Amino acid sequence: MAHIPPSGGRRPPVPTPHRWIMSSQPYRAGAKAPSGPGSLAQNEIPAPSPAAVAAVSAAARHLNRYPDPLATRLRDRLARLHSVDADRILIGSGSDELLFLLAAAFGGPGRTFCCADPPYWGHEHPARMSGADMVKVPLLDFRHDLLAMAVTSADIAYVCNPHNPTGTGVTARELAAFVARARAPMIVIDEAYIEFADHPELMTAIPLTVESGVAVLRTFSKYYGLAGARVGYLVGSAELVATLRTVRAPFSVNHLAEVAALAALDDHAHSAEVRRTVRRNRPALIRIFAAAGMAAVGSQTNFVLILCPDEEDVLGLLREHGVSARPGTDLGLPGTIRVTVPDDAGLALVSTALQPIIAALSTRSSRKATPS
Ligand SMILES: *Cc1c(COP(=O)(O)O)cnc(C)c1O
Repeated sequence: MAHIPPSGGRRPPVPTPHRWIMSSQPYRAGAKAPSGPGSLAQNEIPAPSPAAVAAVSAAARHLNRYPDPLATRLRDRLARLHSVDADRILIGSGSDELLFLLAAAFGGPGRTFCCADPPYWGHEHPARMSGADMVKVPLLDFRHDLLAMAVTSADIAYVCNPHNPTGTGVTARELAAFVARARAPMIVIDEAYIEFADHPELMTAIPLTVESGVAVLRTFSKYYGLAGARVGYLVGSAELVATLRTVRAPFSVNHLAEVAALAALDDHAHSAEVRRTVRRNRPALIRIFAAAGMAAVGSQTNFVLILCPDEEDVLGLLREHGVSARPGTDLGLPGTIRVTVPDDAGLALVSTALQPIIAALSTRSSRKATPS
């Protein structure tokens, strides 16, 4: 070392990141309420599966070991669940990792990705960070405009079904027609919320993945309540899975996430409870906002998009009662807020918070009804 002359402050400047990174911002998460029942900004469910919690504590004994790079036990379990070959499944550290892998493998300058406008963050940002171009197709009445997306020239088209941030879905027939006609050689359907859907014609696209250009993304973050564990998966062709495996860091899915997901999959009592709560409290949440004079977009998810011209006023009222919701302005939908479907305690908080608006509305309407 003694023989290497000091640089004398002449070290060249640190290289600047690519211009497409310079022109973007780090992700801004939904504001955290004091993680109780009023935490309604991030589409989480009220509590994780107790079986998953127990499995994680037991598995913590093995934290000195590297995890299984392919999360084989989980992959095999999911292969049985969906009746597909295990080599057509890739487990990721959240489906967000898989979106970054797709962008790394197929993006870059000269490539084009297509998504809805406004999109889910993960369908735009990783592609842009790779230097790819984006074509964003405006939603029509809060739904994907699949006809316009089908004629867009792109290398990959993302369809979010049901969509975040609107909660709307497309039917199996609409999706099949899109897959048959789309110009994009690769179509990725993000089904992060599909377990909450109850529209009889909204179905998983996993059967469509027998075509080599179609892939489906799923996550354990929403319905299975494991957002903190980070685990999601892709179902696609064996070739696509092999390509993405080449790109990824080998141990990206940690052992605790894998055992949590396995336990959650088998905890049918917990998932039945989650489904019941969402199906009961989704209409209840919509009724509370309706009483306060605010309409909702029909939702197939565990969140509801509320139309409210006074975003900040309503968010302020909710905040006073320990409730956080997502401002639509953050999501590309000014004049709305996105509210996670809460448990009963959270529903009571929302109802209390909106009482001033509800009371003012009912005084006004009873005044109108009383002849003077
Ligand atoms: C929440 C969400 C995900 C899940 O991301 P994870 O990384 O698995 O937590 C994926 N897609 C959409 C549309 C989402 O809303």
